[in-house]
Amino acid sequence: MSPRAPGKEAPTRAGSKKTVSPKASTTKAATQGATKGAAAKTGRTRASSARTSARTGRRAGKGRPGTSSSDLLGLLVLVVTGSLAACGWIRNQGGADAPTSGPVTTAPAGAQVTIRFLDVGQGDAILIRSPEGKTALIDGGRSSERLSAQLDKYGVTRLDLMIATHADADHIAGLVPAAALKPRLFINNGMGGTTQTWERLVKALQGVDATFMKASNQTVNLGSVKLRVIAPPPGMPDDQNLNSVGLAVQFGEFRALMTGDSESPETEGWMAQERADLRGPFQVYKSIHHGAANGDTAGWLASVRPQNVVISVGHNSYGHPTDSALRLYRQSGARVYRTDRQGTVTFQGRADGTYTADTER
Ligand SMILES: [Zn+2]
Repeated sequence: MSPRAPGKEAPTRAGSKKTVSPKASTTKAATQGATKGAAAKTGRTRASSARTSARTGRRAGKGRPGTSSSDLLGLLVLVVTGSLAACGWIRNQGGADAPTSGPVTTAPAGAQVTIRFLDVGQGDAILIRSPEGKTALIDGGRSSERLSAQLDKYGVTRLDLMIATHADADHIAGLVPAAALKPRLFINNGMGGTTQTWERLVKALQGVDATFMKASNQTVNLGSVKLRVIAPPPGMPDDQNLNSVGLAVQFGEFRALMTGDSESPETEGWMAQERADLRGPFQVYKSIHHGAANGDTAGWLASVRPQNVVISVGHNSYGHPTDSALRLYRQSGARVYRTDRQGTVTFQGRADGTYTADTER
């Protein structure tokens, strides 16, 4: 389990790559405010975490010019975050003894969580639907049109949660139109992007009053499905891939893991944390970085122990997926799926750990 308290490492990085603009400072404030909100909420159940987070909050605000409007926004986010926490929708976990249960919905017998690795071409886009119909979108691929078509195809009319693992275009471009589905909560790595696509995403999310929150090992209850947000380990350089946010999905005995475009320094950092939430086996696992050579390693796969590996990949000039990654997956004994060849890949998991897998073609 993580030895690190929530929110300890990254607020100082929040927006660090941003150029100064009104939008940029708003994003920064919103992200930092969300962290403060999380700290206050955690404080009700875990005093030690609250102290750590409170320190983090002060550090994040230190030296920021003209803090009055930022503080006001932070307060507003605090209120919103507190409300979400009060209804049991978000729950922070600070360590081994952190609460693992809350006022979550109990799934009816035979209920299933659905995880779809959407065929959006090159990039990642994963749609999760709880048995209660709550939805989360993890990344959106690089094509707005393809992502919109996929959401239409699967009848998604509302999002509860949106996560950007990192701010590269092949992960966030499709999130811009998806923001119109009014996610209540948006979680990212706390590093603002430097692109117009990122600016459009922030504007779209602000337009629907989404709450911005930085990944801090919090658990989001998506109905009866637990979504454990995996924050980047401490000490990562200022690089988007190396600060990919991970997500571990848990529904009873059924588990899935996805970690964006993490490269080996990040997975090594996670392994050094000896986290139970990243220890396999996982029935479903997303290939890191579209099967790039600098993603999955034999050591990481031995820790994750995937039964099925899905490669989210499309036509590309990077050589994804690489022969070395494909060899690793074969050696792990996992079954391998590819969205470029099989279209959208869908898993339906039950609380007893059994599941079905379907491909579009
Ligand atoms: Zn990518």
